[in-house]
Amino acid sequence: ARTALDAVQTTPGAVLRLSGLTKTFHPHRHAEVPVLRGVDLDVRRGEVVAMIGPSGSGKSTALRCTNLLERPDAGSVRLDGDLVFEAVDGAATVCPSVRELRELRRRIGMVFQGFHLFPTMSVLDNVAMSQVRSLGRSRDAAVRRARELLESVGLADKAGARPLTLSGGQQQRVAIARALALDPEIMLFDEPTSAIDPELRIEVLRVMRGLADAGMTMIVVTHELGFARQVADRIVFFDAGTVLECGPPGQVLDDPRHDRVRNFLAAVE
Ligand code: ADP
Ligand code: MG
Repeated sequence: ARTALDAVQTTPGAVLRLSGLTKTFHPHRHAEVPVLRGVDLDVRRGEVVAMIGPSGSGKSTALRCTNLLERPDAGSVRLDGDLVFEAVDGAATVCPSVRELRELRRRIGMVFQGFHLFPTMSVLDNVAMSQVRSLGRSRDAAVRRARELLESVGLADKAGARPLTLSGGQQQRVAIARALALDPEIMLFDEPTSAIDPELRIEVLRVMRGLADAGMTMIVVTHELGFARQVADRIVFFDAGTVLECGPPGQVLDDPRHDRVRNFLAAVE
């Protein structure tokens, strides 16, 4: 049987560098919510980074800034050594064109808590369609690749189903296959198992572990500390819009430097 390992095409040289990311939301004219206060993060090729931390600490915003779903007020995003975005004092000094932005989002795959599959398309089309549009693949090649990927996430038999007839765990595996279909260099996961029944999470985590083993570069926001311990090379603890602590799982989870980390871990476990 094929595994996720066969399906992944890791691109040598993929590396992500976030420097000084700052983001403030203005929910009303006179309200300011500083959400990122200077986030620095380097991700090496093939590295798996688990991002943990309290709700509201800016984890999702950091991921969204990485593929520019959200535009940082300041700081920079480098992909593969290329400066793809930079802003100073709220003004972008380097900003991708619409075409470059589309290519950036192809290179940085993202999986959300809520799956976001196209409900009126079959599972197969969900995984095949964007390949035609984004990569210019023929319909036949796209379908072939979609079937490979569906098999690698254990859903070959669901190709013809509509997404909403699937369990949450199955839908999330389709979403992962769909992101992988664009041959991303990095995968971002934002609490991929939080909306899934506990007993169905294990299959999703197994697929993610397979991807990690295959050498995919990944950032995973998660509350699954067992997964973080076993799969992540590094754990990044977010607090109030900054990286408070960062290190190997054994250090951050077992011997954190900060009481805030210790208290968080005690509350989660
Ligand atoms: P986390 O993922 O760590 O829970 P988020 O990045 O989702 O944190 O959110 C951090 C803070 O930013 C929260 O206080 C949230 O309410 C606020 N926030 C996020 N997105 C927006 C937005 N589009 N407009 C206003 N506030 C936002
Ligand atoms: Mg979040």
